[in-house]
Amino acid sequence: MKPEQPWQDTPPLSARTLSALSRIASVLRAGEWQFASRAGLNPTQLDILQLLSPRPEGMRLNWLAEQLGVTAASASDSASSLVSKGWLEKTRAVDDGRAIALRLTPAGHDLAGHIPEASQFAEAALSRLPPGQQEALYDSLLALIRQLQQAERFPELRACIACRHFQAQRHADPVAPHHCALVDAPLPAALLRLDCPEFESR
Ligand code: SF4
Repeated sequence: MKPEQPWQDTPPLSARTLSALSRIASVLRAGEWQFASRAGLNPTQLDILQLLSPRPEGMRLNWLAEQLGVTAASASDSASSLVSKGWLEKTRAVDDGRAIALRLTPAGHDLAGHIPEASQFAEAALSRLPPGQQEALYDSLLALIRQLQQAERFPELRACIACRHFQAQRHADPVAPHHCALVDAPLPAALLRLDCPEFESR
């Protein structure tokens, strides 16, 4: 017999949204893992390439471990394998000449440049949504990340929302309501950065 209201046991909106995010993340991961296995990488190694790609100066192992949510020993194993394959190299940390940082070699950089191809299908789907919907989605995801950061459950991001130069809602213009004090200019809501090289933490 059909229930009178098949939606009566529907979980709360927050639970369904998380479930949707989790399903989307799984689909994206599947695409990335196919790319990783073709390149002879494991998923953690793929993440290391992605994390270091926009940081040509290199980063320390502890930072990598924190971003990956794994132990320093596990990050070290994955990094050593990338070094032996010629995709990663050790260098001096820019903030402390006695410390070691890891950075991509030119070959590693080339390889990392192809990783976004693995999720092109998802980017194409996203780009078919109306621009307003894309902006609202991005805005909501940034707000969720902010909440998770406040609860100390999200690794550091070089994002506008956590940058000392960011001034929210400073202008009346609905298209560019924010302000970047670094360049002293209005910042369009649709261009809020998730990983800005000029980021400075508060
Ligand atoms: S410096 Fe970069 S991260 Fe900071 S507010 Fe400006 S654009 Fe955003």
